[in-house]
Amino acid sequence: MSSVKTTNGLKLGGLVRPNIRRLVPYTAEEIPCTAKLDANESPYPAAIDYQAMLEVQPNRYPDPQARALKEALAGFLDEKIGTDWILHGNGSDELIFNLICAFKGPVISPTPTFSMYGKIAQALNEKTLEIPLKKNFALDTPAIIKEAAKGPCMVFLSTPNNPTGNSFSQADILKIAAKSRGLVVVDEAYQAFSGQKSFIRQIKKHPNIAVLKTLSKIGFAALRLGFLIAVPEVINEVDKVRLPFNVNSLSQAAATGALGNPAPLNRSIEKIIAERGRLFRALSAMQGITPHPTSANFILFSVSHKKGITAPALCENVYRSAGVRLRHIVVPGGQEYVRVTVGARKENELFIKAMKRALK
Ligand code: PMP
Repeated sequence: MSSVKTTNGLKLGGLVRPNIRRLVPYTAEEIPCTAKLDANESPYPAAIDYQAMLEVQPNRYPDPQARALKEALAGFLDEKIGTDWILHGNGSDELIFNLICAFKGPVISPTPTFSMYGKIAQALNEKTLEIPLKKNFALDTPAIIKEAAKGPCMVFLSTPNNPTGNSFSQADILKIAAKSRGLVVVDEAYQAFSGQKSFIRQIKKHPNIAVLKTLSKIGFAALRLGFLIAVPEVINEVDKVRLPFNVNSLSQAAATGALGNPAPLNRSIEKIIAERGRLFRALSAMQGITPHPTSANFILFSVSHKKGITAPALCENVYRSAGVRLRHIVVPGGQEYVRVTVGARKENELFIKAMKRALK
């Protein structure tokens, strides 16, 4: 970038904000594969409403308030909330952006966690504070409270956490919410697989809790739909920075009908949970592989094999031999892991066979 010059001799790179120049882009590669187990998607496509999509008028803007979609979401959730507690996003990524845009930082998060909290904070020139998880991947609650009680801030807690897979203690999160002098955003991207209740029911008592939801992990990733659930005062402020037609009509139409029919979605979730158990047991039985307890739709595992095979070498081997895509994870401090998304039975079998071959 810095080598490109304008006709009057200016380097284009010199025009970029320094915080953006330093930003490392989020990478999600599209590489041909047999089993895509690297992006925490569902292996089961949601039964979206194709008929409603056919009725979309392409010459008209989408409903800017996504009213029907919000009503369908309110009916889909276990907790009874009004649509004035919901804000729709083009994926929950977009809502993370909008939240950090609207509310005061610094952005406090445990580490390792979902990288977009930090990247978006950096893009918006907001300070970040990363507090290492304990050895067992639990929150260092006193350390988070110490920072969050100092003054305005925003705490992001993904539970279950990506990439570690564990759920954080509900009591710890509530303690943080009670002591924090800022918003506590509980990101429930993987809550459907956790068997735990949503934090939505805590918002009445702790109005500084905001909950993030996404449909990406339960079969709708292509539609890009995320939701923020919070008290109307929070929703209204974040809504000010939302771009007017952020969720397109096709996505609104496709998901509205599907959310009204939750049975197939719930069946898919149950299948994923059952497969997760099988996959976990298979990994536990492998020499040199330690899977970490998970309540998400993926499993993080450590590799310490007697032949010295490393996490990235294992990912490469499994991809080359069977076309199974895995995610190589490096956490601050340098430890390396592999993250595998729970796929359909056939995909998981392919993965298990390839792992056994690689470790032989
Ligand atoms: N939060 C967490 C914890 C995630 O892992 C992800 C996706 N990887 C997201 C949010 C973003 O999801 P969406 O597809 O809704 O943008």
